[in-house]
Amino acid sequence: MNTQKVAIVTGGGSGIGYAISKALAAAGNKVMIVDLSLESAQKAVEEIQSAGGEAEAHALNVAEHKQVISVFDQIAETHGRIDILVNNAGIGSVGTIEETSEEELDKVYQVNVKGVYNCAFAAVPHMKKLPSSVMVNMASIASSVGIPDRLAYSMSKGAVLTMTYSIAKDYVSDGLRCNCVAPGRVHTPLVDAYLEKNYPDNKDEMFETLSKTQPIGRMGQPDEIAALVKYLCSDEATFITGTNFPIDGGFVTINN
Ligand code: NAD
Repeated sequence: MNTQKVAIVTGGGSGIGYAISKALAAAGNKVMIVDLSLESAQKAVEEIQSAGGEAEAHALNVAEHKQVISVFDQIAETHGRIDILVNNAGIGSVGTIEETSEEELDKVYQVNVKGVYNCAFAAVPHMKKLPSSVMVNMASIASSVGIPDRLAYSMSKGAVLTMTYSIAKDYVSDGLRCNCVAPGRVHTPLVDAYLEKNYPDNKDEMFETLSKTQPIGRMGQPDEIAALVKYLCSDEATFITGTNFPIDGGFVTINN
């Protein structure tokens, strides 16, 4: 019998992270949902458990270095291992360089860049102890192409892409695979909050406009991203490391 794997999903209480948590639990992994919001993490755990899966909720701010180490060490001690880390937690930011304050840049850096660093820093020593382990980082189309009005967000997602390459290179001989996925626009609470904040009077119209920026004519669904992440975390993907996977309805390569 295969040993049950322990997977940590950051930001697993909402949107894409929630879909990933469900998919990894359905694949038989024990899923640790870490999220700023304990309430949404607990709600996700209840839903996974009621579907017969195994999950646990942990309140955590990925931007807090010591807090991340403490929670990850506790998970490793309790469950004996960390096989999978999905660095999904992230926040959005809108604005050109002139519209991006120093505070905004720092805030985005703390979560989207330092959060990934913190979680990888805390998890890798545990993952290295296993003959094989896997990390998947949540990049974006903004990691590799210019998106209007997204200075801070693009900066942060570019860093996620290059941290992925760096970790993949440094730990390839430790059996640790590291890849990232780069979604186009996916319909999640993050998108709804963006529309509510920036286009309160014409949300539906903007939703349509944003949908059509994907050549495929719609936004992605969280479950579609989760299916790719589940595959990358599985033993079917053992030959894949150091790779970025666009999942964007054709945005990066056939947008014209
Ligand atoms: P979401 O807002 O629905 O969910 C994000 C989750 O992360 C929330 O549960 C939130 O509480 C948690 N979180 C935020 N800051 C945190 C912190 N400091 N510590 C711990 N948890 C924290 O967002 P989503 O749309 O599901 O996005 C998930 C990831 O996918 C993000 O990294 C985002 O940048 C990326 N992404 C999203 C899209 C999209 O169109 N939705 C596209 C490309 C990439």
